[in-house]
Amino acid sequence: MLGAGDGLITNVSLVLGVAGASANASTVRLAGTAGLLAGAFSMAAGELVSVRAQQELAERELQVERQELAEEPEAERRELAAMYRARGVPAGDAETVARILSANDRVALDTHARLELGIDPDAPGAAEKASVLSFLSFGVGAVLPLFPWFFAHGTTAVISSVVIGAIAALLLGAVIGLLGGRSVTRTALRQLAVAIVAAGITYGVGSLLGVSTK
Ligand SMILES: [Zn+2]
Repeated sequence: MLGAGDGLITNVSLVLGVAGASANASTVRLAGTAGLLAGAFSMAAGELVSVRAQQELAERELQVERQELAEEPEAERRELAAMYRARGVPAGDAETVARILSANDRVALDTHARLELGIDPDAPGAAEKASVLSFLSFGVGAVLPLFPWFFAHGTTAVISSVVIGAIAALLLGAVIGLLGGRSVTRTALRQLAVAIVAAGITYGVGSLLGVSTK
């Protein structure tokens, strides 16, 4: 959802910025398509790198914990009991739980990972999937304001881009609000306001540059 919002705002701005320089439809199409691809690839690459980095960090922390459990099981068991006490479990019960969970190596590592490191060791390594998803969501957002330029040009295309961009921004904002359990009206209007400001600025800059290059 957020990726689609990024794509939408990026390309509403880009398309209207180039259109503001009163370029012809084919130039707008070229710029918009380049913006779509550049943005989508950049999002996908960023996602791949950051998810990979998180996974490697988690794997390294797990390795350290695995070693500590192997070398000092008694200290790790006391540490586990202390973590349960800190969460409000009575001392006797905390000891019992820690003893039971420490009896099995896999369960012990899993418990230490979740409680101590805040890592879910079973989380799937989905870097590629996250990467493809962010490529697609940016692309979907970016294609919307570009779409009219394949069928129209000039003022008609500009107005179509603005209308499609505004409707898409409102809908996306509403969905983001709905998913986040926040005020749907407020997130919808905020998304629209961001799109208007971004597109307005680039349209203005495009107009100025368009005049200066003529
Ligand atoms: Zn530990």
